[in-house]
Amino acid sequence: MSFLKLEGISKHYGDFAAVVDTTLHIEKGEFVSLLGPSGCGKTTTLQMVAGFAQPTRGRIILDGRDITQVKPSQRGLGIVFQSYALFPHMTVADNVSFGLEMQGLPAAERRQRVKATLNLVHLEALAERYPRELSGGQRQRVALARALAIQPPVLLLDEPMGALDAKLREEMQIELRALQHRVGVTTIMVTHDQAEAMTLSDRVVLMNKGEIEQVDRPLDMYERPSGRFSSTFLGKANVFDGTRAQAGAMFETQGHKLPSNDQGIGELSYIVRPEKINFTDQSALLRGKVSARVFLGNHWLYQVQTTLGMMQVTLPNNGLPQVAEGDDVGLSWQAEHARLAPRAGGKR
Ligand code: ATP
Repeated sequence: MSFLKLEGISKHYGDFAAVVDTTLHIEKGEFVSLLGPSGCGKTTTLQMVAGFAQPTRGRIILDGRDITQVKPSQRGLGIVFQSYALFPHMTVADNVSFGLEMQGLPAAERRQRVKATLNLVHLEALAERYPRELSGGQRQRVALARALAIQPPVLLLDEPMGALDAKLREEMQIELRALQHRVGVTTIMVTHDQAEAMTLSDRVVLMNKGEIEQVDRPLDMYERPSGRFSSTFLGKANVFDGTRAQAGAMFETQGHKLPSNDQGIGELSYIVRPEKINFTDQSALLRGKVSARVFLGNHWLYQVQTTLGMMQVTLPNNGLPQVAEGDDVGLSWQAEHARLAPRAGGKR
């Protein structure tokens, strides 16, 4: 039985449906990210788990107990929200100790738990500092320690690294992943950053307009996107709408026939990732003209104008690039790398 279950939860604000009939089962110890564009309902979903927003419909079950009507403070969850700032007039240790006092833990035990938790986030040396005396990354770690100190059944993180610069963010992601593994706490994180979701999560929940579009392990979501939305939100993709008449036949779009090993017939989207495409002189599936070439450090991004529209191709930076802007090129890829998905996106 799953540890945390969201059973058909919806949240309406007047006529507006922020979250629609969402069912999600999370296993104990799992790290799950809610990913999606701004306004898709990620935070609202997390707030319902936290108890700060009441679902219009549906139930939330934690470890077999229905907590839908339970007050936030009674749920005992660990929360790191961006708006949930540290107490500025309290030291790091007191900030971390706060929740333990609320739980009524005796002083000696509190001290020991604070020390252990600060150790966990490598902040033991800064216990007596005040939040204003810390860097952004250190403050973030205190917030994490404060949430973990109460040993919550579930840790809820809303854009926990939103305020950090790119480099620090990357470091913190790796640290958070290791920490979550060590502690083994079931974690739900809201993010709109696909790289962050992929780095940290056991499973990614991709949301769109209040609904779940796809739930999968990062690699599976990347390699088998459920449709146009998933393929272009998580990574880059070339997507063509067309049809396949029968099993095993070529996919047909705008007078072109393209191969795929996938199942599926009827009206479909054909999806091929830019890094799966190669330039070729022979056996090209498609021809075009390079309209732009962009250097991105570890790889080159090419935009190629074809009769199917602008295609994106990425090649690793293995030295000097072979083609230049204005060149006529042939494009090829393996049938096994082309995905077929329902046009609407295929909700799972
Ligand atoms: P972001 O990444 O921008 O934070 P999000 O996916 O977390 O977006 P939510 O904050 O869950 O999105 O909001 C979902 C939708 O619900 C938005 O259109 C938002 O305007 C609306 N919404 C959220 N809270 C309220 C509220 N209290 N009253 C009315 N509408 C709300």
